[in-house]
Amino acid sequence: MKLSEITPDTSCPCSSGVLFSDCCGKFITTKQHPPTAESLMRSRYTAYAIGEIEYLTRTLPLMDRKKFDRAGAKIWSEQSEWLGLEVIEVKENSPVHATVEFKAKFKIGDEEHLHHEKSRFEKQMDRWFLIDGKILNE
Ligand SMILES: [Zn+2]
Repeated sequence: MKLSEITPDTSCPCSSGVLFSDCCGKFITTKQHPPTAESLMRSRYTAYAIGEIEYLTRTLPLMDRKKFDRAGAKIWSEQSEWLGLEVIEVKENSPVHATVEFKAKFKIGDEEHLHHEKSRFEKQMDRWFLIDGKILNE
């Protein structure tokens, strides 16, 4: 799915059960920032699902943006059919540090894949950013 294919009735790709425009769309298509680490994580998943690579870049801290592999992210985004997201656990370790463990399901060709990751987020200047992520096994 592409951003241009989204209509007012489209459910959010992040599996929240809410319309895109009331969920991740608020953050991807406007300048509004996700208020929590979980909403940032969800909107990043949705950005992969609809190919909004610029959004993936701007949710990284400034110093990490240059080394972000945009081309790789674009290929992963476009090759995959994004099947859904499951947030396993959200931990707020301090007012400005949080971890979100999640499973993202996607399909490349006929093969289904599961991406299981625990990501670290940090709030800088009142805005959440993705710091890094650890891939977990099944
Ligand atoms: Zn969403």
